[in-house]
Amino acid sequence: SNGTTRSLIWFRKALRVHDNPALAAGIARAKSAQPVFVLDPWFCKPSRVGANRMRFLLQSLRDLDATLRERGSSLLVLHGEPRVVLPRACKTWKVDLVTWEHDIEPYAKMRDTAVRGALERAGVECASSSGHTLYDVEEMLAKCHGKPPTTYSQFLKIVDKMGAPAAALDAPKAMPAPFTGTAEETKELVAGVADAYGIPTLEELGYEAMHDDEGFQAIGGETEGLRRLRRQLSRTEWVHTFQKPDTNPTTLFHALGAKKPKPKSPFEIAARDAGSKNDATNTAANSDMLMTPSTTALSPYMKFGCVSPRVFYHELNAVLAKFEGKGQPSQPPVSLMGQLMWREFYYLVGAGTPNFDKMEGNPICRQIPWNKDRELFAAWENAQTGFPWIDAAMTQLRLEGWIHHLARHAVACFLTRGDLFVHWEWGRDTFDRDLVDADWALNNGNWMWLSCSCFFYQYFRVYGPHSFAKKYDKDGAYVKHYLPVLKNMPAKYVYEPWLAPLDVQKKAGCVVGVDYPAPIVDHATASKACIDKIATAYAAHKDATAVAGKKRKAGE
Ligand code: FAD
Repeated sequence: SNGTTRSLIWFRKALRVHDNPALAAGIARAKSAQPVFVLDPWFCKPSRVGANRMRFLLQSLRDLDATLRERGSSLLVLHGEPRVVLPRACKTWKVDLVTWEHDIEPYAKMRDTAVRGALERAGVECASSSGHTLYDVEEMLAKCHGKPPTTYSQFLKIVDKMGAPAAALDAPKAMPAPFTGTAEETKELVAGVADAYGIPTLEELGYEAMHDDEGFQAIGGETEGLRRLRRQLSRTEWVHTFQKPDTNPTTLFHALGAKKPKPKSPFEIAARDAGSKNDATNTAANSDMLMTPSTTALSPYMKFGCVSPRVFYHELNAVLAKFEGKGQPSQPPVSLMGQLMWREFYYLVGAGTPNFDKMEGNPICRQIPWNKDRELFAAWENAQTGFPWIDAAMTQLRLEGWIHHLARHAVACFLTRGDLFVHWEWGRDTFDRDLVDADWALNNGNWMWLSCSCFFYQYFRVYGPHSFAKKYDKDGAYVKHYLPVLKNMPAKYVYEPWLAPLDVQKKAGCVVGVDYPAPIVDHATASKACIDKIATAYAAHKDATAVAGKKRKAGE
């Protein structure tokens, strides 16, 4: 282009070149432009970001670098604190403009304020654009006068007011010249700016090395994300009738069948009509086809912005349009469009609610006297509850970083209002570390939902930790896969091994209390106690609300 600006395009999420407003703004009037990603030591540690997610991020960075190279540019990865590294870089490299994508997460907001302050003081122009959500969150907030609704139906009214999301931007065909070319030039350029540079390996970041066949099995990045999006959307009948509650949380093992007894991840499942009920014929997997779980499994790509939500939206709409006049499609909240809107909903509520990620000081969160019992929590986190369905899901989470939505429901309910009465913030932290798709707004919002702290209040409807998965997987194949100690347990007892007579346990090589834990609680007793405690907390909430209402009326 013909501009005179030297710009820095700061990638954080939005690890893509298609529909990337911050990228577009960064190159619009640039003579030269340098795409950068800053590896911030704040999150580069296994205790904060689990290995599966870190690997996915590094893969996404490599993909972005390759895509930028095809366009005559490249991604420079700087190691250090953004508020230190970026002002230094801008000074050393004589940058006029820095662009990035708006982010609502608390740490990101602090970081961005600090970076912006330092840059603007140094006379560098800063521009942030909305791109992580379908709509600009600030615009949505304005539409609800700064007070987001806590129900989905009210939220859909705001969506109506917003109209259709803007069209997606095309990927730039070519990029302005980067600041460097050769490796030697890069080394010189970075000298004195950052602690180190380049895309590191997991080990270099202090993680244990992972083999390719371990952990989360889908490769990170825009290229793979778009390929998966389009592959999923090409299953038009499935897309048209998608109903979230009907998707099977235990599919992955079934679809593999007996011949391939070692699935690596949800992505190892043969393509099939995932919306259909669990079906034994699905085990005849065609391994040549793309592997998919029973939902889209695009969440990690959405989390890192490898796939633009607007592209997802518009391409999904185009599929639905083909069915016009051919029967009613499934509808929000359960349809696929409904899922995208859940994401948008939690972004809006997350952005507009003080202390959204805490119980205390969070005006929409019911105050419930959760316990902080380390032993119960450790049993849950380490897959030692003695309830095979719960322990299998927690094992899959630990090993692979992704579990189905209903598995998330089951383990979150069990930890909080269902059985253990442990604080939802603790479970949230585990998910935040271990999920490949860990996303601040979605994770906190869903934990509040599952713990009946907000959005959903039917605390007396508890998932049975031994009965829930049975209707999807009566033989317990999923459980047996993740908990091989139960592999010879007869189907009759696989969800409740403690009920098996001792000789059956012995024959199966799994004696409860020796080879596999006895249940940590008696579900009937524990869930009853939880229900009573929440009923009491809800009653107190009602009283407090009534008192506050009276005070308001009296003008106090
Ligand atoms: P699909 O059903 O194919 O949906 C497509 C997309 O819609 C998803 O990729 C996601 O971006 C969005 N979406 C789907 N369900 C939800 C939902 N309930 N809320 C908001 N957006 C949704 N999802 C995350 O991405 N990150 C999280 O950290 C996260 N934490 C969760 C914690 C708990 C306790 C629970 C119950 C759910 C959580 N979810 C989270 C939501 C949901 O489980 C996942 O988004 C979904 O399972 C991802 O699989 P998918 O891409 O196949 O979803």
